[in-house]
Amino acid sequence: MRLRKIPGAEDVIASSDYVVKNEENYKGKWREKFQNGYPVYIEIGMGKGQFLFEMAKSNPNINYIGIERYASVLLRAIQKMEEKPLKNLLFLCMDARRLEDVFGEGEIEKIYLNFSDPWPKDRHAKRRLPSREFLGLYSRILTKNGRIEFKTDNKGLFDFALEELDYGGWKLEKSTYDLYKDKDMCKGNIMTEYEEKFLSQGSPICKYIIYR
Ligand code: SAM
Repeated sequence: MRLRKIPGAEDVIASSDYVVKNEENYKGKWREKFQNGYPVYIEIGMGKGQFLFEMAKSNPNINYIGIERYASVLLRAIQKMEEKPLKNLLFLCMDARRLEDVFGEGEIEKIYLNFSDPWPKDRHAKRRLPSREFLGLYSRILTKNGRIEFKTDNKGLFDFALEELDYGGWKLEKSTYDLYKDKDMCKGNIMTEYEEKFLSQGSPICKYIIYR
């Protein structure tokens, strides 16, 4: 994704109560951080947060954490939170490679991967968020019945993601190469920012839901 660096973004992140700092201190204690006993769902690579805002608004009994590695991207989400704060939504500005430093074993109920960067070169396959390397990380922080939901417009990335399921005992609950033609899978679908863009260009959206 092309990134426009916004001057001052790092300072906004540093002073925002909506972005958790020293996140390692909350490992295994995220429900306490939210001060409730509700399950915790995360989106990795949340971008500006459109999807999470809708989810958090519609599901007050679920805690959401958005993870985004670039301060300049996260900035917009912080501005939205300042306009209309949500108690069940927090952000982390970090690379997903650090997930295990921040979340305890079996602490997360659901992981959303929405329109993850495709990293088209073979030598960068490990950087793809649905790769076997990342799936290994997800497996350790997910609850026993935890689910991963992945959406993308990129058929190549989707085929890759399906092949990666063989490494680590993942099972496919549902999948489609055209979400908007699949009534069952599309029910209650919340659009992300990228999803809106790709749909308007006529691209079919692929989705899977997996578990172990
Ligand atoms: N999920 C949003 C959507 O669907 O509109 C944004 C999609 S955007 C293509 C992918 C986002 O993932 C970017 O903002 C990027 O910075 C973030 N990202 C990619 N790899 C990441 C990683 N390893 N850790 C955290 N964020 C990551």
